[in-house]
Amino acid sequence: MTDFAATKDMFHLPEGMIYLDGNSLGPLPKATAARVARAVTDEWGEKVITGWNRAGWMAQPTDYGDRIGRLIGAEAGHVVLGDTLSIKVYQALAAAIDLVPDRRVILTDSGNFPSDIYMAEGLIKSLGRGHELRVVAPEDVANHINDDLAVLMLTQVDYRTGRLHDMAALTEKAHAAGAVTVWDLAHTAGAMAVDLQGCRADFAVGCTYKYLDAGPGAPAFIYVAPRHIDNCQPALSGWLGHEAPFAFDLDYRPGTGIERMRVGTPPVLQLAALDAALDIWDRVDMDALRAASITLTEQFIAGVEATCPMLALASPRDPQARGSQVSFAFEQGYAAMQACIARNVVGDFRAPDIMRFGFCPLFIDAGDVDKAVAVLADIMQNNLWDDPVYKQVSRVT
Ligand SMILES: *Cc1c(COP(=O)(O)O)cnc(C)c1O
Repeated sequence: MTDFAATKDMFHLPEGMIYLDGNSLGPLPKATAARVARAVTDEWGEKVITGWNRAGWMAQPTDYGDRIGRLIGAEAGHVVLGDTLSIKVYQALAAAIDLVPDRRVILTDSGNFPSDIYMAEGLIKSLGRGHELRVVAPEDVANHINDDLAVLMLTQVDYRTGRLHDMAALTEKAHAAGAVTVWDLAHTAGAMAVDLQGCRADFAVGCTYKYLDAGPGAPAFIYVAPRHIDNCQPALSGWLGHEAPFAFDLDYRPGTGIERMRVGTPPVLQLAALDAALDIWDRVDMDALRAASITLTEQFIAGVEATCPMLALASPRDPQARGSQVSFAFEQGYAAMQACIARNVVGDFRAPDIMRFGFCPLFIDAGDVDKAVAVLADIMQNNLWDDPVYKQVSRVT
């Protein structure tokens, strides 16, 4: 079991704020500032370049990768950190395409995050081998898995609606058709247990600044199933993915195991922030987390539906079919969300009309949900959102 009152106390939450956006950027763990300061002053400051060995910097991408691996059901030694999620999507998809050389179709859904789709489009263009990206409605994915398919590329939890794909069933179906899978865990890792190994997932990627609380700009991770890694020819063949980076050879030879999915210099200061966040995650029971998340999202939906008839639930009603976020559609959703934020209930807005609220049991409890519902009900029942100040659209929504 996990003591969620204890984990809540491990976060710095701004005074009076109910933070329902940990699905987009996790809040600051209290231990992070000191851990990052130690990396700056004791490690960088005192050890300078010897920090790569003496502070363990060079091993952190795989050391911390294994700690994330526990949360997502990966085999030890098969997760590595680095770069941003968009880059990891590109790497995983390129490697997956190579594994099925005689097929040309990549299947994804229209609920996927645009960056994943854009990266696929760019990769297809630079390969110039006639690959086709097929984008279908989320509920139609299973019906489009057939003998043409090379790669099934999906984000498990839809960033807008929270709809959850059945990883085990879709992976099995893709394998039966002779395809491989790339799963994006951006809204799953840290939201619920994932069982990559049990699902026989081929590739997975995700980020650490959302549910995993490693801070803005924190690195992404990539998983490659042990059965594939020796056959993966890295598309982004940087020196730290080389078999012997410090031999400085002029020809590229892929490194051993997951190390080959590294590209360049790891972001050490950001990895220090991740270390502090993982100190919390190391003690979290993922089944308890999922149970607590479902309790919170059910409470929120019931509260909002009882008080705000003008908001339409945009997330699956069945808690087993959604992640750890709840979305409501409202035509003036942007303004309504700004009104919430002005009253210290912080979620976000996704075009065209989605108000999105994330529930992270590590720092959100039932009392917070009640307060958030009361604030939202006041805004909606009294049209408090209908104010020009809430309709000025910022760069980040
Ligand atoms: C958040 C998110 C991204 C963002 O990618 P970055 O390269 O980290 O900016 C990509 N894909 C999905 C599915 C996401 O949810």
